[in-house]
Formats: sequence, structure tokens, C-alpha cells
Amino acid sequence: MFKMPQLVTEQQVAYPESYYTATAGSVESLPPLDGKEQADVCVIGGGFTGLSAALNLAELGLDVVLLEAERVGFGASGRCGGLIGSGQRKDVLETEELFGYRQSRLLWDMAELAKQEIRDRVARHGIDCDLQKGQLIGVHSKRYLGYSAEYADVLAERYAYPDCHALDREGTRAMVASDDFLEGFFDPNAATIHPLRYTLGIAAAAREAGVRIYESSRVTGYTRSDPATVSTAAGSVEAAFVVLACNGYLGRLEPRVADRIIPINNFMIATEPLGEERAYSLISGRFGVHDSRFIVNYFRLSDDHRLLFGGGKNYRVGFPSDIAGFVRPYMLKVFPQLADVAIDYAWGGTLSVTANGLPHFGRLEPNLYFAQGYSGHGISTANYAGKLIAEAIAGRAAQFDVFAGLPTKPFPGGTLFRYPGMVLGMLYYSLKDRL
Ligand SMILES: Cc1cc2nc3c(=O)[nH]c(=O)nc-3n(C[C@H](O)[C@H](O)[C@H](O)COP(=O)(O)OP(=O)(O)OC[C@H]3O[C@@H](n4cnc5c(N)ncnc54)[C@H](O)[C@@H]3O)c2cc1C
Repeated sequence: MFKMPQLVTEQQVAYPESYYTATAGSVESLPPLDGKEQADVCVIGGGFTGLSAALNLAELGLDVVLLEAERVGFGASGRCGGLIGSGQRKDVLETEELFGYRQSRLLWDMAELAKQEIRDRVARHGIDCDLQKGQLIGVHSKRYLGYSAEYADVLAERYAYPDCHALDREGTRAMVASDDFLEGFFDPNAATIHPLRYTLGIAAAAREAGVRIYESSRVTGYTRSDPATVSTAAGSVEAAFVVLACNGYLGRLEPRVADRIIPINNFMIATEPLGEERAYSLISGRFGVHDSRFIVNYFRLSDDHRLLFGGGKNYRVGFPSDIAGFVRPYMLKVFPQLADVAIDYAWGGTLSVTANGLPHFGRLEPNLYFAQGYSGHGISTANYAGKLIAEAIAGRAAQFDVFAGLPTKPFPGGTLFRYPGMVLGMLYYSLKDRL
């Protein structure tokens, strides 16, 4: 009973105005869920986590419905900085201290697979998302001096990751024309993407693989049963498995995980186009940059030579009324030479952080999976979380199928005479045992 969503002509929910929506190309609207559906898996949330889970599940042969409250990529996935860092949110020295080397190495290796998953998806589906390489971390405080060189050595010696290098103040300044940084750390294998185009590309691949995606379909609740019934205002999906992928937009949908994360609002601006020469006089390439502050500044050049700059956050419900005015001072602290430049776009998004800065994955029921709390390091981790959830679900479903697929013959005698037949058979074999 596969039913592909029909395109609808008028927009249902508007995306926030941002540089990403302005440069995403034509975006299809998908209709809301209307009526009852059945699926192997119902995914709630159409960001990196949910779309990656849906796509991987469909590729593993499962029938998937994805319900998105607003639009695909409406949440953090379509609004974020686009910096794909290596490792986890916490660096390997911190994870070694917390968990020991073996676990820390495992977390690092998984993060490498997560980066590779994005590169593979971009290549396999031909996603036009401006994938670029490299990331520079600018050290802003004397407290961290010397750390870059030590960290590059640790990665090379203990994590088989030899290509990073430390930069002194001049070397850093040659790459980023700011007096803000005392030294730098360059990772040539980190990356950047246009996040909304990537999200829409994954959604298109998921639909091609058979996933039925419904937008404007806010889930209002689900049963704790097998199968579960997932409800929206206008319909419901009965599914053997449910994936909860709402992250910072979870609200009160699932109180059992809501208290493990804090939603945080983060803000970005895009300058007017600066022209190629002025753009590259700020940053010498298309690599991403972030600093070592707790309230991190992150920035990069767009392909039309703007500066995309993220900085500042709040913990309230709602964004500042003047986001451009809120973020601009952070940008001018790093690049005072941009005082004359107009801001064309300003927007905010909501992510979620955990108490220890590490992601929160789990299973609330045998058939209810979730992943959230990527703590600002969500592009690669959320995409990989979706893949891991898909593999976990398919593994459970597949193990079930091992038994379900064993050949069984009906007992002779049909429903009426099978018992006498079975008893005779049992007697025959138990007599053979005694002979
Ligand atoms: C401004 C900003 C900058 C960032 N920069 C970076 C960066 O440079 N690098 C990086 O790695 N990470 C960054 N992040 C974090 C990263 O974007 C997130 O970790 C990641 O996108 C999380 O993906 P997700 O799919 O789990 O959540 P989201 O993309 O937020 O998706 C959740 C979806 O669930 C939907 N939803 C919620 N409730 C329901 C419901 N009841 N029913 C149906 N659907 C529902 C929402 O509408 C939303 O579309 C940034 C985040 C922000 C906000």
C-alpha cells in the first residue's frame, strides 16, 4: 500500500528567512498526513537524525513513514553553521579522562565514520551542497597557548590522525585576518556544507528509496505498545518501531528524555556579498573557522563571497527581535574591518545540549529509539545517529525474521484433527527414545 506523497502547490509552513533558504533552490512542499497509515517504522522529525534514519532504514528494506511538524530541514539542520568538525564535541583528551583511551578511541573512530557517511551520501546522491574541506580553530586566550601543538601530536600518535598542525600567531593571521587569535589549529579533513541543501538532498534520496514524508504533521503522541500508534491532528501511523528525532524542538512530546537536554538558541548572520578579493582577504580559503570561546564564534565564506557568521546564544523561548544587531558585535570583535558592511540575512535556530556535552542516544521501549543532545556538534553525529538507529532496528527486525522465516509445515489433520495427530506423533517419538 505504498503511496507517494503528492506535491502541493501552496506553501504550508514558511521556512525562516535565512541565507540558506534564499539559496536552497526550489523547495517542494509535501502534504500533511491525512488518515491512517501503516509502516514498519515511523520516524518523528525531519532533520539530519530523522532523515538519515529514514533513508538508511528504507535502504535496509523497511517501509518507513516520516512525520515532520513543519518542513523538512525546518529545525537546526536547515539553519546551522555548516561546520563538520572531527571527533566529538569534547576533545580526545577530555574523553580519555572521562572514559579511558579505548572508549575515547572508539568515539573518535565513530566520528570519523560519521564524517565519511556525509561525504559518501553527497557523492552517492549527487547532493549539491557546496561540500568544502578544512577547519581552523582560533585560540583566543593565553590560557590555551601551546595546546594546538600538543593536540596535533596526540591525534597523530594515538588516534592515527596525522594531518593536523598547529599555527603560530602569524600563520593563523595569514589564514584568518583577525587580531583575535593568538595561535591556531588546522584540520584539513574537517569540512563544511550548505546544511539546508544537504538536508533536502537526503530527503529527496529518502523519498526515492520509498520513504513517505509528510510535512505539517506534528506528532501529538504515541502509544507505548507493539505496534505503536503515532498520532497527528489529522491522522495516525501504526508502526512496529518508532524513532524520535526532534532534538531541540522536542518540547513536551517525550518527558522521559526531555529532562536530559537543554534547548539553546543560536544565531547567525550573512553579510552582503563582499566580492571575491575582499572575501578572501578575510579568510584565505573556503574552510570553516571557530574559536575557543565557551560561547563559540564560527564563520566561513559562502560560495557567493559573503561572510556567514554565527555567534551569541540565549536560553529563552524566542529569539531577540533584532538578530542582526545581536550577532553583529560578535562579528566586529573578530573582524573590525567589516564595520561598513551590510547584513543581508539574520536568523536563529534551536539545538540541544546535554550536561556532559556528549550525545544522548537510547531506547525507551523495545520499539522506541531516540537520539538527541549533540551539543553543537550535530551535523556528522546526528547523521550517524540516524544510521546507527536504522541498523539497530533492522538488526532487531532481521533477528525476528530469522525465526519468522524458518519453514513450518501445517500439522496433518487441519485445525480439527491436528491434536490427535500430534499426540500420536509424540507418542511414536517418545517410544523410539525408549527403544
Ligand atoms: C544556529 C545553529 C548553528 C549550528 N552550527 C553547527 C555547526 O556548525 N556544526 C555542527 O555540527 N552543528 C551545528 N549545530 C547543531 C546541529 O545543527 C544540530 O545538532 C543538528 O541539526 C540536529 O539535527 P536533528 O535532526 O537531531 O534536529 P533538528 O534539525 O532540529 O530536527 C528536529 C525536527 O523535529 C521536528 N519536530 C519537533 N517536534 C516534532 C513533532 N512533535 N512532530 C513532528 N516533528 C517534530 C522539528 O520541526 C525539526 O524539523 C548548529 C545549530 C544551530 C541552531
